[in-house]
Amino acid sequence: MLELQGIAVSPGVAIGKVLILDREGYRITRSQIDSSDRHNELERLRTAIAEASSRLDLHRQRSTDQLGEQVGAIFSAHQGLLLDPCLQKDWVQLIEEQCYSAEFAVSSVLNRYAHAFRHMGSDTMSERANDIRDVERTLLEALGGAPLEASGGAGQSVLASHDLTPAETANLDREKILGFCTEVGGPGGHTAIVARGMEIPAVVGVGNFLHRISGESQVIIDGFRGTVILQPDEQTLESYRQRREARVTRAAKLTEIRDLPAITLDGTQVCLLANIEFPSEVASCLQRGAEGVGLYRTEFLYLGADREPTEEEQFQTYREVVNSLHDLPVIMRTLDLGADKVGSLQMLERESNPFLGLRSIRLSLRQPRIFRIQLRAMLRAASERTLKVMFPLVSTLHELRTARMVLRQVAEDLEEEGVPPPAKLEVGMMVEVPAAVLMLDHFIHEVDFISIGTNDLIQYTMAVDRGNEFVADLYSGHDPAVLRLIKQSIDIANQAQVEVSVCGEMSATPATALLLIGLGVRALSAPPAALPAVKQAIRSVRLEDWQQIASRIFDFDTAREVDAFLQARFSDLLPDMALGV
Ligand code: PEP
Ligand code: MG
Repeated sequence: MLELQGIAVSPGVAIGKVLILDREGYRITRSQIDSSDRHNELERLRTAIAEASSRLDLHRQRSTDQLGEQVGAIFSAHQGLLLDPCLQKDWVQLIEEQCYSAEFAVSSVLNRYAHAFRHMGSDTMSERANDIRDVERTLLEALGGAPLEASGGAGQSVLASHDLTPAETANLDREKILGFCTEVGGPGGHTAIVARGMEIPAVVGVGNFLHRISGESQVIIDGFRGTVILQPDEQTLESYRQRREARVTRAAKLTEIRDLPAITLDGTQVCLLANIEFPSEVASCLQRGAEGVGLYRTEFLYLGADREPTEEEQFQTYREVVNSLHDLPVIMRTLDLGADKVGSLQMLERESNPFLGLRSIRLSLRQPRIFRIQLRAMLRAASERTLKVMFPLVSTLHELRTARMVLRQVAEDLEEEGVPPPAKLEVGMMVEVPAAVLMLDHFIHEVDFISIGTNDLIQYTMAVDRGNEFVADLYSGHDPAVLRLIKQSIDIANQAQVEVSVCGEMSATPATALLLIGLGVRALSAPPAALPAVKQAIRSVRLEDWQQIASRIFDFDTAREVDAFLQARFSDLLPDMALGV
């Protein structure tokens, strides 16, 4: 048994056989074989090498004809690697002596070589590592491998991978993948957010561990504590099975309060909304008693596609969300593409600092054709109803005014075309950049509502990449600097009587949600699965207590002190819930 520590990003426990997804997105299945199958496995490997070699030969000939000898030579080099006797000896040894499948043997040996080349510190050697990756891909394909999204068939398993993009995560088959763990990744990345939306237990940022997994190992993912347990013993397995059961029982109990209001013991009502990425999630919003959608991340329609979705496709998707919510409100956020949300689209430039680059509203304003198409689809979907449009990552008034102007023009065009306008159109902005907080007293007169995006606000306040495990300790919403900005935003909005909600993940944790309420927020938006526990917490406390707690928070110097204070107060006031996890 081996216990590894990572970062807990999506609560829950998953127990199952591991399925390794290598860096190139190929499933490495059947990691270990029966010893009686070794001969067949060696034969499969030989056939695949011959097949891969003739594919490379074909590529070489074609590229030499079309692009010249120099390009053709790349494939000769790949062929040389593929047929290298040292590599072949290592593969054969792993199959013969350790009964590994050909796929696993190929992948683990080439991983080792690529890793070594990559760390030699020169560009030429790094190039060599990329060549090794290409050879690996060719050989895995010849072995019948298929990229993740194309393959199916396997039973239920726990996925282990170097990394997963948000789009790959969204495409995971929830019926088959019980949970996942990755070597890299940080607490606020969109992979983590998608995992929470899908209610799939996940741990990221575990560090290098894939080489430690052998065969079809059993794995436990503890998405509460952030641990990954390889080859657990029977006692550990049993205790995790019990925790899993207890969680199911608790969740069932929370459904009893689904239709009750989120109201404190001293009578203050809070509006609980849900964050969604896909129309299919509306069902879980309704199941969890959400009063509407406080953040619809529309960019996920782009992330799952290999081409730009048409206006009609966007219209149909938004319409589905609006219709299935019946009369409940929905805040549609315009495209928040870029940074870690890139998918396979051509429209995004390569940037050396994408989190500080052309992302989000900046990208929409730079690509007015795409922006206009999206706004048309939204306005059409909300024809004769209320439409709440929200712009993400606004950092200047100029951006807000330009975005509003484009929206106005698009609305006028549609009216001229005879499309009935929304009965009511509200325009809001996300507050997720310190510049927006500092200028909020100006912004506030030009919007109908604001939503505080704490995920990015933490990132840009602390100058910490939300998806980077190496600086995850700095990524905290309890840092006094972040809390000051949140408090300032809430005060400005409340003073101006402009609707304010928090839609970052801080709303999803009961103790932090109560703190936000104590700071003056009356609307929270969180992943659907988080709502019942937040509601239960709200219904169990007095606002007055949490206002007092919120006023004490600014006495502390560090996130750690705030954490400790908050946890202690939460345990005092809600002992049953504190024990719950
Ligand atoms: C945020 O930044 O807090 C937010 C809700 O938006 P996203 O997580 O999609 O960046
Ligand atoms: Mg954001």
